Amino acid sequence: MAKLPAEQQHPVEALGWAARDTTGVLSPFKFSRRATGEKDVTFKVLYCGICHSDLHKIKNEWGDTNYPCLPGHEIVGVVTEVGSKVQKFKVGDKVGVGSMVGCCHSCDNCANDLENYCPKMLLVYNSIYYDGTPTYGGFSNIMVADEHFVIRIPDSLPLDACAPLLCAGITTYSPLKHFGLDLPGSLYDQPGMHVGVVGLGGLGHAAVKFAKAFGVKVTVFSTSPDKKKEAIERLGADSFLDSRDPTQMQVVMGTMDGIIDTISAPHPLLPLIGLLKSHGKLILVGAPEKPLELPVFPLLMGRKIVAGSCIGGIKEIQEMIDFAAKHNITAGIEVIPMDYVNTAMERLVKADVRYRFVIDIGNTLKIA
Ligand code: NAP
Ligand code: ZN
Ligand code: ZN
Repeated sequence: MAKLPAEQQHPVEALGWAARDTTGVLSPFKFSRRATGEKDVTFKVLYCGICHSDLHKIKNEWGDTNYPCLPGHEIVGVVTEVGSKVQKFKVGDKVGVGSMVGCCHSCDNCANDLENYCPKMLLVYNSIYYDGTPTYGGFSNIMVADEHFVIRIPDSLPLDACAPLLCAGITTYSPLKHFGLDLPGSLYDQPGMHVGVVGLGGLGHAAVKFAKAFGVKVTVFSTSPDKKKEAIERLGADSFLDSRDPTQMQVVMGTMDGIIDTISAPHPLLPLIGLLKSHGKLILVGAPEKPLELPVFPLLMGRKIVAGSCIGGIKEIQEMIDFAAKHNITAGIEVIPMDYVNTAMERLVKADVRYRFVIDIGNTLKIA
């Protein structure tokens, strides 16, 4: 079946924008979606965020891209059809799908609601689905997914500004919680956590918002000094430092309990390890295309930890979305039409977005 043209693999006509080669240039792409299976939820896509992972992927920076590559994994919309065995959703519901559309449901990770670490996890695009056809992401007019991977969007959240939570949100919420960086101060106990957020892009700004909602102290480390005013006044960061200024960095050496490193490009870890207190944790969530150099001695001197974290499980994504609704957390977004996507990708390379592009799929993806 996979050998059939993308338009003929399934019964439902679909349109999206896909990259055909490593230039990463996206253009209209006709393909098809499966009919709604008994456990499937089908929805009209209204908005889709642009994550830097989409950029890495369309340009084959991680070396594993299959073309045509139709990206998008911060997908939200309204349900148009549900299968006969679907229990959690009905037509008209506001829903979202993030990075995952399949997992084995039987390994230890799946048993612990960590589908994101299942060795058989299927990605929403650039994976091969169980029926042998490629998966295509959210830069498209229609989406279908097993209900297990569908997230309910509370009514109080605006669909456009909550789309980025499905990746940027969970990718920062999950490590803040898991590594205990969410502990606020208490009157009788220890002072609260002091968290560093490195890189103020899509993930970084979500990290600041969640960390502040948890009640911890946040210092942003950025290469873009012009982001300072907004970081403090609108995102609520406690301080903002220019990570390229050694004098500013020196002042806060040894003061962080944890750091969420969201940088998308290769960068030195030594200065970041130096920012940590003893037992501090440097959590890498950014995914540069080349390995980073890990200096060992600065880790030994202070029992410091370097770890990684990848999105979050479905249960935790729902928890994060519900938390966001309760605390009024949405992404800072620039809504763009579909045909602006290639310009948006060029601007994303230059860290020129506050803080996430979201494509208005519903109004601007034209069926030719
Ligand atoms: P983004 O919006 O482009 O933000 C990245 C930020 O990193 C930029 O805004 C910039 O912040 C900083 N930066 C970029 N290049 C830099 C350089 N050469 N040196 C120092 N700082 C630099 O990207 P994003 O969507 O947040 O994604 C960030 C990374 O996380 C990507 O690699 C992405 O693939 C990865 N990711 C991982 C997961 C996961 O599950 N672990 C999930 C989603 C994304 P300043 O302007 O403030 O310096
Ligand atoms: Zn992402
Ligand atoms: Zn599994």
